[in-house]
Amino acid sequence: METIRTVCPLDCWDQCGLIVKKDGEKIKGIEADPTHPVTASMICSKGRLHLQRTNHPDRLRYPLLKEGDSFKRITWTQALEVIADKIRIALNDHGPLSLLHFYDGGYTGLVKNIESRFFSALGGCTMHKGSLCWGAGLAAQKYDFGAVKSNPYQDLLNARMIIAWGRNPAYTSIHQMNYIRQARAAGTRVVVIDPVLTSTADNCDQYIRIKPGTDGALALGMARVVIENGLVNKEFIEQYSTGFDRFVETCSEFTTAKTAEITGIPEEIIEELAFAYAQNNPSAILIGIGLQRHSNGGNTVRAIDALAAISGNIGLAGGGANYANFQVDRFIDHDYLSGSDLNPQRRFYSKPHLAKALMDLKEPPIQFLYISRANPLVQVGDSNALAEAFNKVPFIVTAEHFMTDTAAASDLVLPCANFLENEDLYYNSMGHQCINYGLKVSDPPGECRPEYDFLKELADLLDLDHDRFPRYGTDELISRAIKPLIEAFNLDLEMIRKQSPFMLPEFNGIPWSDGEFQTENGKYSFYSAAAEKETGSGLPEYFAPVELSDPLLKQNGYKYWYATPHPRDSIHSTHRLPEAGKKPIVYLHPKTVREEGLSEKGQVKVITERGYIIAGLVSSERVSRDTVLLCQGLWHGSGAAVNRLTPDRLTDFGDQAAYYDCLCRLEKI
Ligand code: SF4
Repeated sequence: METIRTVCPLDCWDQCGLIVKKDGEKIKGIEADPTHPVTASMICSKGRLHLQRTNHPDRLRYPLLKEGDSFKRITWTQALEVIADKIRIALNDHGPLSLLHFYDGGYTGLVKNIESRFFSALGGCTMHKGSLCWGAGLAAQKYDFGAVKSNPYQDLLNARMIIAWGRNPAYTSIHQMNYIRQARAAGTRVVVIDPVLTSTADNCDQYIRIKPGTDGALALGMARVVIENGLVNKEFIEQYSTGFDRFVETCSEFTTAKTAEITGIPEEIIEELAFAYAQNNPSAILIGIGLQRHSNGGNTVRAIDALAAISGNIGLAGGGANYANFQVDRFIDHDYLSGSDLNPQRRFYSKPHLAKALMDLKEPPIQFLYISRANPLVQVGDSNALAEAFNKVPFIVTAEHFMTDTAAASDLVLPCANFLENEDLYYNSMGHQCINYGLKVSDPPGECRPEYDFLKELADLLDLDHDRFPRYGTDELISRAIKPLIEAFNLDLEMIRKQSPFMLPEFNGIPWSDGEFQTENGKYSFYSAAAEKETGSGLPEYFAPVELSDPLLKQNGYKYWYATPHPRDSIHSTHRLPEAGKKPIVYLHPKTVREEGLSEKGQVKVITERGYIIAGLVSSERVSRDTVLLCQGLWHGSGAAVNRLTPDRLTDFGDQAAYYDCLCRLEKI
């Protein structure tokens, strides 16, 4: 049996090393790479699903062109000629900004990023800014620290207290969860703050239920307790920060009584938690993504960062305001990959506003939409509006593995090779800083091709200059894109390939331990001039989430918080099996079930102002009485694609989708 080393390409914190077992041409199994410093001997069900997906009978195998209401098989030559033709017409009639390139995190390897250079080589395109997923938190940490970095997972073993704040690593980061369990077994106090009693909360010492969207108020209220009781770290504040005095003023209004009223957490718990957090250094906070999917999400992360900073938990082993980890990223030549060096024309829209961009942009209107690594018809908020907007676009091309909702709504579908069928470099785990090389394991089925492969052919058809869009081999392209990494550490691609997985020596440390922040003035910013300029407020502040506090909606019966977290078995919708989601489930508190007159084993209609979905009902005390919970990621065929109901509202900054600022009502079926 042959074994080949590769990498899980999913949009997951852990970016696991994988070992693929092959017997002749047949892939027999996918296992954890035991040499990977984070993966160790464990991968999750999502990683194991790659085998089924790769060999699935519904996998797209040939280019498909829409004809009437169905698709017909065409050759690659025909497909690329059609695309080249549509692009030429759009460029001639409307210019490059009439092309829109939409992509997301359906795949995390480096090579597919060259698509952006393809559009830059054409002269530019309309593209998104911000994120569907985590943009508010990223923007917040850039204001505060100047960059987004976290302590290594294994550093949790140095913490005396861990707060998983809106984060559920038992589902979303099993390797981090492993360290939490180990730390707890060794005596570390583990606290979970979350509106939902998650699986992570099953493994903690204290679960604190908080009202959704009020985490920022809790952070400011805790900060006030820390400040007023003289528990601040004076050395950090005086030497390494700026704007503390103004932050004190912001916190002062968040008395414990007021914080308790906003958050629903009893006063004595808020006080005890604040004391324990500040007096138990080092204490680590793990900041979740869900808490920044509210209209106040960016400010929430800034408030939590500030709490960590005043208590001296920044730059400390066992501490940190740990949101995500962008460390290797600065050694990737993104200017080259994106084609910024070609000075392309660009027009930006906020990513959650894809429907508005397609419907409303004029001069020029969008004529050609290219989608890859994404399933926006399922993932973008208010997806019914997006489906309407798709009808307005003259031509849509989607590169995919399966006939997703987005692929089905396209005019042309291109069948892509998956991660096992192509080599790539993986450097961008959200949790660790390990660099991994993924070897090619097998040939793609049917006529599936890697994107870079067919983009090169398309570039030939469109006469794109080789300097503008390179016709490299995969090796050459990766080497070019990681030139800064190669130069900084005196490496070459062969060394990286052979030594994979490996950690660059400088990344094993604790971020910010040298006290040098990457903000404009080199200090931690309680007050950020950049934030003030861009958002109107230089300090973290709390305001109530827009829809969750809308009295009119509540009067009209929309009184439940519509929560759509990640399930255990999937990350978003792009890597699901087509048959998944046959029985969608909505979780309601038993008292809600009774009050609404619903039947325990029946179905329920969940309604917002944007649409409705129907799902089977499960009663569970894991959710509070005012919560309706459905996991995200199901396709529309399930009847419960959750974003039919969510708004396309933006967060306070970071151009992030405020999915969780959403009220719904229930109807008996
Ligand atoms: S989904 Fe995450 S935890 Fe699961 S195998 Fe992939 S990288 Fe590892």
